[in-house]
Amino acid sequence: MKRQGFEGNMIYIVMDLEWNSAYGWKIKGFMNEIIEIGAVMLDENLRQISTFSALVRSQLGGGRLRSFVKELTNITREELEDYGIPFTQAAARLRQWIGGLDRVLLTWGDGDIRVLLSNTRYFTGSRQVPYLRSYMDLQQYFMHRFQLPAAQQVGLAAAAERLGIDCTPFDHHRALDDSRLGAECLRQLFRAADFSDFVRPCNVSFFARLEYKPRMITDLRNPLVDQAQLIHTCQTCGVPTERLNDWRYMGRGFQALFRCPVCGATGKATVGFKKLYDSVSVKRSFRLLRPEEMETLAARAEDGKPPAEEPEA
Ligand SMILES: [Zn+2]
Repeated sequence: MKRQGFEGNMIYIVMDLEWNSAYGWKIKGFMNEIIEIGAVMLDENLRQISTFSALVRSQLGGGRLRSFVKELTNITREELEDYGIPFTQAAARLRQWIGGLDRVLLTWGDGDIRVLLSNTRYFTGSRQVPYLRSYMDLQQYFMHRFQLPAAQQVGLAAAAERLGIDCTPFDHHRALDDSRLGAECLRQLFRAADFSDFVRPCNVSFFARLEYKPRMITDLRNPLVDQAQLIHTCQTCGVPTERLNDWRYMGRGFQALFRCPVCGATGKATVGFKKLYDSVSVKRSFRLLRPEEMETLAARAEDGKPPAEEPEA
């Protein structure tokens, strides 16, 4: 059977990585170091035509593996020392195996491709993975197909179960088996009508976006701050409330006290602006406070003391 609608000779590569958290002296911080790469190559009819598997010898953190990594993967330090190859060598083999241009790489969630990018950058200095041409997040496609909200991320095994796939022949949390399981999910999910909508070209901005770390905006004069978000309307009366003190940045956002001129209700507004790669996400909340709570908070604000920590709602 020939699947219609998508480029005829497209080759699909489903990849999975295992990694270990280790201290990277070059970046002076912890990073996820790849210890195993597994991938399967599928033809345009999603039939498996080749597999790739490599153990990667850890070069960071003295080769120690975190205990949860050992438990999860059953990979041992000895195995990596005996059979592992350095990352640059494994990546060169992967590059050769992936080959020509009409290939789309798929991973379950974008964690693996982020880690591939960070390891490529750490060990080769490149800010791109030069042998990738196009990419698709299989998890995102699954979420779309099941109409699930982005926040409710489903793991590979749970998704496979939902797709009616028998997981018993797969050794979960080993790279090659997880990529085979991912390939099985792809076979169940693939729909020519919308598959290509989820394929992204691996260009400069694709990698820049993957590397981008969202951060909170801490200065209200930042031009990215939408000033309209700082107006608080009374939920009861529908009128703009009066701000009683200056906005102060408190970690999750800016906070100020407000009072409704009509009903007299008082409370604390929190507005957080998070800078994403090419947009700003805004989170707002409002908590009604009794007059005595207001007085305490206002006094603390005047003293320049931070208000008492509150648990996240
Ligand atoms: Zn009111």
